[in-house]
Amino acid sequence: MGLSEYNRKRNFAITSEPSGDAPVRARKGAALGFVIQKHAATRLHYDFRLELDGVLLSWSVPKGPSLDPKVKRLAMHVEDHPLAYADFEGIIPKGQYGGGTVLLWDQGTWEPFGDARAGYAAGNLKFRLDGAKLHGAFALIKLRGRGPARRPGDDERSWLLVKERDTEAREGDAAEITERQPESVTTGRTIEEIAGDRSRIWHSKTAHVDPSGAPGARAARLPAKLAPPAFRKSAKPPRGDGWLHELEVEGQRLVGVVADGKPRLLSAKGAPLSPAGARKLAAIADALRLLPADTVAVDGIVAPLSADGARLGYFLFDLPYLDRHDLRAVPLERRKALLADLVHRAPAGGPLRYLDHFAADGETFHREACRLGATAMVSRRADSPYGARARWQRTACAK
Ligand code: MN
Repeated sequence: MGLSEYNRKRNFAITSEPSGDAPVRARKGAALGFVIQKHAATRLHYDFRLELDGVLLSWSVPKGPSLDPKVKRLAMHVEDHPLAYADFEGIIPKGQYGGGTVLLWDQGTWEPFGDARAGYAAGNLKFRLDGAKLHGAFALIKLRGRGPARRPGDDERSWLLVKERDTEAREGDAAEITERQPESVTTGRTIEEIAGDRSRIWHSKTAHVDPSGAPGARAARLPAKLAPPAFRKSAKPPRGDGWLHELEVEGQRLVGVVADGKPRLLSAKGAPLSPAGARKLAAIADALRLLPADTVAVDGIVAPLSADGARLGYFLFDLPYLDRHDLRAVPLERRKALLADLVHRAPAGGPLRYLDHFAADGETFHREACRLGATAMVSRRADSPYGARARWQRTACAK
């Protein structure tokens, strides 16, 4: 199994994990890395991974490693993973391949006894580990099929992970190292603590909505000030073609920014929220991390999702910046298409919503919007930039 299988199974568009395209982390010298990730997925297991030839050879070990040479642990061979995955600890959104919580249980280097490629191909891989928790000699031995009882595919994936006899071997309780040392090797946290920390949802370095081809997109850093355009009041809905109309969402207009892994919310004038305001909207800011992007700025309205106002949503209607591209000169219609793509690739169930528009006749839309109980409609030119020259207007419904 190669990386193509891994990449096929995982929809990188909406997951936070690294894809195979992510840059390979630097490694000192020629030592090969190993990592064991405790993975609370449908079933808890330990993913045992050895670096070889630019990928992580991977086995899923339901019970994890034991230090007792008499204990043989089943290790199901699974697809290779990208090297960038070796540093991953955090949450994989539900519904994704491998969805669940990942804890970095051990990390270090491994050294094969003899030719690693030949041993791997022969199903007999012996090696020494030098990790924070595991040390000494181990073996991964492929199980052989047994006559007619063997089903197609059976045993092909079944290996055993065994501790070899040396001074690092233990017996009894002392051998159950996963129970004695359950915590993360890098952060000291438990799997529950990691599961409760939404900040550890890690996004792929390869953005999956590519803004570079949009007309007017300019390669640039995130602007210090975005100057969100204002909606001018209008007594009548606009006439003619070339307008995008939206139902007005009543709420708080906010610009959301994620940069350097940190989300923040700004007022429509670009000012940071008060500490109390920021606390109240912490879950909204946090949800911005679910967007599959490294750096992003969105414009939208925070408003209740339910009649009782207990849950807040963030209704997004514009995208002035995305992953190294200033989109303020891109026609609105194209910005909204990119925004729709981005929001739809975020995991479902969060507070982020894409605010769709209608390209209908203004008067007809206004009449329908008001009949449906909207307070107003907002109208923006389909070719409108995001900035001072934007032609955005709001037409209230008669009370
Ligand atoms: Mn796993």
